[in-house]
Amino acid sequence: MKKDINLQGFRVDLKSFQEALDYTFESIKEGKNIQIVTINPEMIQFGKKNSDFKKILDEAELIVPDGVGIKIAIKLKGINQEQIPGVDFSKELIKLSEKYNLKIGFLGAKQEVLDKMLEKFKEEFPNLNVVYAQNGYFNDKNTVLEEIKNAQPQILLTALGSPKQEEINYKLKEMLQGCATIGVGGSFDVFAGYVERAPKIWQKMGLEWLYRTIKQPQRFKRIFPTLPLFLFASIIDSVKK
Ligand code: UDP
Repeated sequence: MKKDINLQGFRVDLKSFQEALDYTFESIKEGKNIQIVTINPEMIQFGKKNSDFKKILDEAELIVPDGVGIKIAIKLKGINQEQIPGVDFSKELIKLSEKYNLKIGFLGAKQEVLDKMLEKFKEEFPNLNVVYAQNGYFNDKNTVLEEIKNAQPQILLTALGSPKQEEINYKLKEMLQGCATIGVGGSFDVFAGYVERAPKIWQKMGLEWLYRTIKQPQRFKRIFPTLPLFLFASIIDSVKK
């Protein structure tokens, strides 16, 4: 079994959802710092233009395929890979955090979203050990980095959108000890109940992106022309090998 795959110069790990979760838990237990990236076609397309961002992706310890676009690109190379949506994966990390009393931190989203999410978590995960919570609209990045360092989370969910969340998590890798950071995009909005997930059937068919675009048409410019360009490049890439 191949452990990872190269998509147009970008590595994606071929772990199942459970393997990715186990790897994360083991790393935390061993006191390692890991950066988890839930990769999507927009990030790869951006990484092609921005070498600093590509370096972050190259050095990330765990890169899981978030969107259906990545799943298709992997399929074009003959491999069936389980999709690992960031929102589901981070929910499992929260469960893990409660179960093993791991210190958890949350960075990102609007203050009201953050408040609502934490309020919901209090009911759903009464023993969650939240050591840090900060909205994503701060002025001084260095202060935030210092605060997180002092809070010493073992799991940090960063919801600032890409590439901001990956950049900040990359910086934190040098500052923390035994912490798994993950960029989770709009997940806090989902946890807080401000944004709904696509119905299961849409998710199963790999059409969550379409559902989200219909609900939030402003997202259209994010996936177009990026997604078709990515898929086109994926076809070329798969023919080459
Ligand atoms: N966000 C933030 N600070 C910023 C920009 C964005 O906290 O400076 C938050 C925003 O409120 C939202 C998340 O980052 O909660 C990004 O959501 P988006 O829909 O862009 O992420 P996706 O899931 O599409 O990657």
